[in-house]
Amino acid sequence: MSGGVIVVAEHLRGALRDVTAELVGAAMALDAGPVTVAVLAGEPSALAVSCALEGVDEVVEIATPSAGFDSDVWRAALGALVTDRQPRLVVAAHSVDGMAFAPALAAELGGGLATDVIGLASTAAGVTAARAPYGGKVAMAVELPVGSVVMLRPATFAAAAAGGSPSRTAFACPAVVSRLAHRDYVEQAASEVDLGAADVIVSIGRGIGDRENIALFERVAARLGATLGSSRPLVDAGWMPHARQVGQSGTTVKPSVYVAFGISGAVQHLAGMKGARTIIAVNTDRDAPIFGIAQFGAAVDALEVGEAIADG
Ligand SMILES: Cc1cc2nc3c(=O)[nH]c(=O)nc-3n(C[C@H](O)[C@H](O)[C@H](O)COP(=O)(O)OP(=O)(O)OC[C@H]3O[C@@H](n4cnc5c(N)ncnc54)[C@H](O)[C@@H]3O)c2cc1C
Repeated sequence: MSGGVIVVAEHLRGALRDVTAELVGAAMALDAGPVTVAVLAGEPSALAVSCALEGVDEVVEIATPSAGFDSDVWRAALGALVTDRQPRLVVAAHSVDGMAFAPALAAELGGGLATDVIGLASTAAGVTAARAPYGGKVAMAVELPVGSVVMLRPATFAAAAAGGSPSRTAFACPAVVSRLAHRDYVEQAASEVDLGAADVIVSIGRGIGDRENIALFERVAARLGATLGSSRPLVDAGWMPHARQVGQSGTTVKPSVYVAFGISGAVQHLAGMKGARTIIAVNTDRDAPIFGIAQFGAAVDALEVGEAIADG
């Protein structure tokens, strides 16, 4: 193996997705040799410019027959690139796109595969990938040989900053008969909130007591310039839409500030918000697990604090 890490850039409709910078950040932190970003697109050069992130040594442009994502083409093109470059590791996103090509790529390469990875460390033999399956109830360390593929959980690794000056090269896409044809994009309904992009989140849990108290926390969120999120029981009860749910079976968020009102801090909830920069918890039970990860907390009534903020 000649070394280095190949990062597969993810993009949508001509824009690089945030997770790409996180993949680069993780690859850089591994200190496993040069970091190469592979950009597969109909016209990869525009995207390649956005891949000039800190720590990137090279951006490889692979012009594909289709403009957007095509799992058959990506698997074949990356297979050819990996065979040519022999990296220590291939890093992709644990995303809908990643799912569609990375496991097949790993099978084709005959190396290892780890999905939904939340931590990475270099070893002499390859890499150790940390996973937290069963809703975070189990901590797992998977040892993978050199030449493996890892899929990293979005909003988990520190993103590389802009400002790199990588070299740019081209790699020819092999001829592939794809089984897919892209037909159209369907826009997300405008009413659906994008929790994943929110910078400040006020989140409410069962501790708010009653459905009619949601209005109070809507005012709290408005006052703080925050987006309102919630724990799962409020969604299950039909009080809040699923688009507002934070956690393992909801959205993974990474805001600057996350304020949890009346949320206990179950592992499935923590799985979705522990990447927040600052966590503030308000919970009457001072032994609630949420205080274990909160930097600031108050063991008081959530409604009392909510009213003070909304009306203060
Ligand atoms: C497969 C699976 C997936 C799941 N996915 C998710 C997920 O994505 N997101 C998620 O959130 N959960 C998820 N859950 C559910 C999770 O296990 C918990 O049940 C849930 O997170 C608890 O929500 P909560 O903290 O609002 O409620 P509770 O655990 O009931 O906690 C309520 C808290 O409010 C406090 N409280 C009570 N009164 C007040 C008051 N007046 N003021 C302040 N605090 C007060 C209590 O002390 C308590 O800590 C999942 C579970 C499973 C099995």
